Amino acid sequence: MFSKKTIKDIDVNGKKVLVRVDFNVPVKDGVVGDDTRIQAALPTLNYLLENGAALILCSHLGRPKDGPDPQFSLKPVADYLSRVMGKPVAFAEDCVGPVAEKAANGLTPGDILILENTRFHSEEKKNDENMARQLAALADVYVNDAFGTAHRAHVSTEGVARFLPAVAGFLLEKEIKYLGQAVADPEKPFVAILGGAKISDKIGVIKNLLSKADAVLIGGGMANIFFKAQGYPVADSLVEEEAVETAKALLAQAGATLRLPVDIVIADGFSADANHKTMNMGPVPDGWRILDIGPETVANYTKVISEAKTVVWNGPMGVFEFSEFAKGTFGVAQALADTEAVTIVGGGESVAAVKKSGLAGKITHISTGGGASLEMLEGLTLPGLAALQDK
Ligand code: ADP
Ligand code: MG
Repeated sequence: MFSKKTIKDIDVNGKKVLVRVDFNVPVKDGVVGDDTRIQAALPTLNYLLENGAALILCSHLGRPKDGPDPQFSLKPVADYLSRVMGKPVAFAEDCVGPVAEKAANGLTPGDILILENTRFHSEEKKNDENMARQLAALADVYVNDAFGTAHRAHVSTEGVARFLPAVAGFLLEKEIKYLGQAVADPEKPFVAILGGAKISDKIGVIKNLLSKADAVLIGGGMANIFFKAQGYPVADSLVEEEAVETAKALLAQAGATLRLPVDIVIADGFSADANHKTMNMGPVPDGWRILDIGPETVANYTKVISEAKTVVWNGPMGVFEFSEFAKGTFGVAQALADTEAVTIVGGGESVAAVKKSGLAGKITHISTGGGASLEMLEGLTLPGLAALQDK
């Protein structure tokens, strides 16, 4: 299934290995917050060190606008990694050029060096060939373990792979195995659950999954465009008007595969303490808006999920950030926790919701990449993956 070479397929002994990690973690006043992404990189880093490599790590962090910007420096991440790994981690204040070259030259097996934010050079996002050559010149081998940016063709994710032997790390391999398998060759029944707010971004995902899944369960803001397409007034509910025509076409094509909420929770404002009530799906009264799926819908979806062999979930069922409107999302999380199926959750807020529900440990695979996981579900090829050597 996984057709690319990984770090297990090559000899890294005595080599300098450039690893593109996803260290795009929250940093505030020089302090690293949620370290999930750092922890997720450790299996690859430890394997490479145990097999005699010297590590040169590169990543982007945040969205610096014009060149270097201290608030997006990877220095705090280097210090954090040093504590986590219990050994020194060197830091180079530039990812290419003389500073980086000097730091990389001195490395011996077992050493770890982190390069400064790749996006401090505007060439990174332009996939500039010259920058790619400079970055490649630092090392003997390139490893991509940054699933979260594998859908971007940037210097550190794609361009550099043209100038070095390039293979996948364990995290990238694991992500692609779960998501790729779920989409390309799922054990059936295959159930997809889609919700959230970024509706137009996800139209391609619904289209692709409708052609593959036995059931596609819709909730969250995503449901609203279908209600609108069915002719229901949705009052103040979140709707992306451009998507309504597409929703009409999908309703006509999809038949019974597409499942919509039969009841909803409506509120008279967008706030945690808004007045709210549950109603069977029907015209939403003026001044009200849909903020969650209702209990009957949760029960229906739970039944479908309990009979599945593969379940993929992207997008919360409601505004789970307000506890009164989190019941649909947490109910679906519970259904995933309880099913025997292989369960996969992707998407920034979806993952946050599952963690908040306390059920993350019962999910088979929680994807670390939002945009990349969506592109996988859409059936697209990730440039960062395509650039790696075939097995
Ligand atoms: P993900 O990050 O998992 O891909 P999105 O970014 O598409 O998901 O959407 C997440 C957001 O969707 C959440 O912050 C949630 O509050 C919001 N949301 C869910 N249902 C609704 C709704 N009915 N109305 C407005 N916002 C909603
Ligand atoms: Mg999101």
